[in-house]
Amino acid sequence: MWSHAPTPVLSFVTTLHLAAFLLLSYRSAGPGRRLLLLPSVSFAILVWVLQVPAWLVAGLVAELVWVVACEKLLPAGAVASASDPAAAPAARQVAPAASKKAPASGGFVPARVLAVTDETPEIRTFRVERPAGFTFRPGQFLMVRVPVNGKDEARCYSISSAPEVTGYLEISVRRQGRVSGALHETVRAGGVLPIRGPGGDFVYPEERDVPLVLHAGGVGITPMISMLRHAVKAEPGRPATLLYTARTEEDVAFRDELVLLAKRSPGSGSSSR
Ligand SMILES: Cc1cc2nc3c(=O)[nH]c(=O)nc-3n(C[C@H](O)[C@H](O)[C@H](O)COP(=O)(O)OP(=O)(O)OC[C@H]3O[C@@H](n4cnc5c(N)ncnc54)[C@H](O)[C@@H]3O)c2cc1C
Repeated sequence: MWSHAPTPVLSFVTTLHLAAFLLLSYRSAGPGRRLLLLPSVSFAILVWVLQVPAWLVAGLVAELVWVVACEKLLPAGAVASASDPAAAPAARQVAPAASKKAPASGGFVPARVLAVTDETPEIRTFRVERPAGFTFRPGQFLMVRVPVNGKDEARCYSISSAPEVTGYLEISVRRQGRVSGALHETVRAGGVLPIRGPGGDFVYPEERDVPLVLHAGGVGITPMISMLRHAVKAEPGRPATLLYTARTEEDVAFRDELVLLAKRSPGSGSSSR
């Protein structure tokens, strides 16, 4: 009754577990996937410890339940980032809407590009339609996917718009290498940009009785401008100071808006160097 299963059967069951492992691995790109893959690895190993047919069947059922749970209960984006502190909030917040629209796209949802604006000679802002249910905190980033030389590549970009703006999201990208270069060269208003997120724990500090001091250099202004835009709208009485360093005058991004904000917000100040 408790006879051990023959080796070919054990190998076959192990292969099924490894197939589930590969499927989960493929469906859940991102650093957080490793922990979620552990059960599948454990099931594959247990096959050789508990070699009894009843346990093999139980293991396969458990594996199936685990795969379905990952696919259904955790949206694709969340699978990718559930244990990734930087990206976890991303998936949790966006992916319910995202996963319905594009279940097989690793959590990315297509966002229509509404406008493309140059901030400086190197930094360009991409405004995309905000997907339904996409909530974020100022300072968080989203992921963007673009084809580069026939291969999809993804990068993180801080959301530079404020959460209060409901119709769109903006990212501001400095042209540097493959993905940022492709964004600058290929993305135009009317096109579509796959996005995923938001993610990140670097967020607007909520301590209301503490003055806000933001420090940025170069394209590092992007999460700060989101925080500043949010502060002006949500906490107009909170003193806010932005210390912003750029290489040259013409590299100062959002310059006109910063000047205007400094003028119109009595508690705020800005300095650029
Ligand atoms: C949380 C987070 C938020 C971010 N927010 C923003 C943002 O708001 N705006 C922004 O612009 N970026 C942001 N980034 C950076 C962004 O994710 C990318 O890393 C950046 O755009 C570069 O990606 P790339 O594909 O263009 O460059 P890659 O091709 O990956 O190259 C990376 C760097 O290596 C250099 N390089 C590449 N190939 C060579 C070579 N052969 N020889 C010498 N040098 C080389 C490139 O010039 C570049 O500087 C953020 C990153 C993170 C993690």
